[in-house]
Order: sequence, then C-alpha cells, then structure tokens
Amino acid sequence: MDPSLIVGALLGVGLIGFLLFIRAQDLPKPEPVSPFKHLDERKAVIYENLRDLQFEYRVNKLSDEDYQTTKIELQKELARVLAEVDRIKAELGVRPVAALAKPAAPVKHTCPSCGAAFEKALKFCGECGKPMEVAS
Ligand SMILES: [Zn+2]
Repeated sequence: MDPSLIVGALLGVGLIGFLLFIRAQDLPKPEPVSPFKHLDERKAVIYENLRDLQFEYRVNKLSDEDYQTTKIELQKELARVLAEVDRIKAELGVRPVAALAKPAAPVKHTCPSCGAAFEKALKFCGECGKPMEVAS
C-alpha cells in the first residue's frame, strides 16, 4: 500500500473533523428574546446620531442653532426610550407578583340564597336546600 494514500486519507479525515469543529463553533447561540432589544437598538442609533451631530458641528457643517435644536430633539428621544425601558422593567417586576396573587383554586359554585360555596355544581344547595343556579 502506498503510504502517501494513508497520509492523504488521514489528512482528509483531519480536515473534515476540523471543519465540523469550526462549524459547531460558528453556530449562532440562541439569543434570549429581550423586551429591551428594540429599545437598546433605538438607543444605539440615537447615540450614533449624537456622535455624528457633534462631528458635523466640529467640522463647521452645522450652525449653532441647528446643532442645539437637533441635539435637544435627540436627547428628548433618548429620554423617551429610557422611560420606556423603565416602564417595561416596572411592568416585568410587577407581573409575576400579580400572577402569583391570582387564585389557582377551582371555580366555586355559590348558593344565591345562603352564599354557601360548593366545588360541584348542584341543583339544590346542600346547606339551605334551595335551588341553585348553574353558573355558566
Ligand atoms: Zn344555600
């Protein structure tokens, strides 16, 4: 057997293994869906615009007035984005508590006459014997 064939085969196997290894490394990790993602992107754009604005102002492309007006607009928008982030954070902080506070107990059937509650829908109240409405 020609030893160069074996070497070639080994190299081939090694190369495939190497490529598979690289592929596995390159696979995108599943990103957690963040409710702040679009806001973060928006924030990044505003920061970029502010940088551009400062640059243009420095190279005298903008008048003082244009610079100030645009800067204030961008800062206002940034404040809106930050407020939205705070609002979502507050909402996320509150929601699990509200979900926990919700009763997980099964729906009770309450007697309209005496107010006794029963797990099952009954034709007649087990407490006072009066007919019970079947709750829908
Ligand atoms: Zn009753």
